[in-house]
Amino acid sequence: MRRPIIAGNWKMNLLRSEARDLVESLIRRVKTPASADIILAPPFTALGAVEELIAGTGFFLAGQNHHFEPKGAYTGEVSPAMLKDAGCQYVILGHSERRTYFFEDDAQINKKIKAALLCGLNVIFCVGETLEQREKGETQSIIQSQIEKGLQGLTGNDIGRIVLAYEPVWAIGTGKTATPDQAQEVHFFIRGLLREIFGEIVAQNTRIQYGGSVTPESSGSLLTQKDIDGALVGSASLNTDSFCAIISSAH
Ligand code: PEP
Repeated sequence: MRRPIIAGNWKMNLLRSEARDLVESLIRRVKTPASADIILAPPFTALGAVEELIAGTGFFLAGQNHHFEPKGAYTGEVSPAMLKDAGCQYVILGHSERRTYFFEDDAQINKKIKAALLCGLNVIFCVGETLEQREKGETQSIIQSQIEKGLQGLTGNDIGRIVLAYEPVWAIGTGKTATPDQAQEVHFFIRGLLREIFGEIVAQNTRIQYGGSVTPESSGSLLTQKDIDGALVGSASLNTDSFCAIISSAH
C-alpha cells in the first residue's frame, strides 16, 4: 500500500508572518493522524518559522531547490546540508519553473538528486511535458528521457527515497488540470518505466504525485486513479480551505 502524499509548493510567496498564519491555521484544521503525508515547501526565508511550528505535528518540511555542490563560492545558492540543517526532510528537484527560468537540465538535476540523497534528504523529482510536446505526441518520450537521465546511476534502494511528481508544464499555474484519464495514463507509463529500470518492487512502492492546477474540485477524481498517489499543489496550497480540502480527498 502506498501512503498518499500531498505537498504544498509555496514558490516565491509568503513572508514569515504570513507563513506562520497559514501553518497555524493548517495545524488547527488538519485532523491528525492525517490520511496522507503532508509536506510544506516554503521559500528559504520562511523555513525556520515553519519548522518551529510544525515540530511534533507530523508535517514534513521541504526545500524548493538546492545546489549540487556541498559548499563553496556559489553566491546566492543553498546546499543540501543547509536544507537538512534548516529542518528539511525533503527537497523538490526538477520543477519545470527551475528547468525553464533557471535553465536546469537533466544532467544538473541528476547531480542535485544524488547530492540530496547523499545528505539524507528525500526528493520530490518533477517531470512533465510542454503543451507543444504533448500536441506532437511526444509526452511519453519526454517523460522517459527526463526519468532516465534524472535517475541515472541510482539504485533501487535510492528510489525508495524518491517521490516522482508528474507535472505537465501546460497545467502548472494555468488553471488547466489534466483530466484524471490523461494523468492516469502518464502515471501508469511512469510506473511501467520504473518497473523496467528498477524492477517490480520498486515500481509498486514508488509514490507518484500529480501536479498542475490541482484544486479541491479536481483533487478527488485525480486521487482515486490507480497510479496517482498524491498531489503537488502550488497556488491552492496557499489557502487553508483549499489545501485542507485537497488533503481530505486523499485516502
Ligand atoms: C507546482 O508548483 O508544482 C504547481 C503544480 O503549481 P499550481 O498548482 O499552481 O499549478
